[in-house]
Amino acid sequence: MTFQMTTRLRRLRQHPTLRTLVRETELNLQDLVLPLFIKGKEGSKKPIASMPGHYQIPINLLEKEIEEVVALGITSVLLFGIPAHKDACGSDSYSDEGIVQTAIRQIRKSHPNLLIISDVCFCEYTDHGHCGVITERAGKMDVHNDKTLDLLVKQAVSHARAGADVVAPSGMMDGMVRAIRGGLDAAGFCNIPILSYSVKYNSCMYGPFRQAAEGAPSFGDRSSHQMDPANALEALREVQLDVDEGADMLMVKPAHSYLDVIYRVKQAHPYVPLGAYHTSGEFCMIKAAAEKGWVDEKKAALEILNGIKRAGADFIITYFAKDFARW
Ligand SMILES: [Zn+2]
Repeated sequence: MTFQMTTRLRRLRQHPTLRTLVRETELNLQDLVLPLFIKGKEGSKKPIASMPGHYQIPINLLEKEIEEVVALGITSVLLFGIPAHKDACGSDSYSDEGIVQTAIRQIRKSHPNLLIISDVCFCEYTDHGHCGVITERAGKMDVHNDKTLDLLVKQAVSHARAGADVVAPSGMMDGMVRAIRGGLDAAGFCNIPILSYSVKYNSCMYGPFRQAAEGAPSFGDRSSHQMDPANALEALREVQLDVDEGADMLMVKPAHSYLDVIYRVKQAHPYVPLGAYHTSGEFCMIKAAAEKGWVDEKKAALEILNGIKRAGADFIITYFAKDFARW
């Protein structure tokens, strides 16, 4: 009797050292980025109903939260701010005293080594919930691309000034990477990289996030700025534009249903770091099924996160970061 090579390897994999020796993909805590939602100056943590274990955190409890995050070994966070006051142009988002800027400064003071990525968009900050300045054109309300770009630049620069390590524009506006690059360089932040949400699908998987960030659009949707889930080649065009405009890192969002897109983007741009956003909807599906006893939460999450990395993601933004650290 003899075995095929692959069978022999699988059997030998029962030896823990050999298993790691021949493993093709390894998922580490350092590959994961934890999203955090910041809301209010004072108060208590407010649980997000559809995202077990996640909260809206007020500034006065942020230090305690970050202590816990760092103690778990998490090395990167992605910050979302929910302002006390929303208006038509989302002015809190580019104020140096805004919620996110305040949070970044506070984290930076006590944790100089924690990587802070800041979300750069307007949907959490505008009273209409859209990702930019709204204007009326031919009787229809629409996001005004170029007016939004000016404010996106202001926002990104104020995040950098507060101490963000990476800025992550998420609105898929045309020319946003070039505009932000120019703005950062002009303000002396030529060392701050841009992580562009290059490929963002028009997905139902953002539902719980919109509850968490209080950024659901009050009218219409974002289909004009987000991609059709049926298209993959279009993703490569979007990515190419961002690379040409100077994006330092790319992102595909959501992750689980778009592994082929992650794979294609990585193949097309092997030298550009690629992130994948394992979204709130993908997170809560596993949580809910596990709660019913239908899947094993840990096994399901690890298998999926591992699959995302195997597809080609260099890092994963995930609400499982804390659970992963505990596992
Ligand atoms: Zn947005």
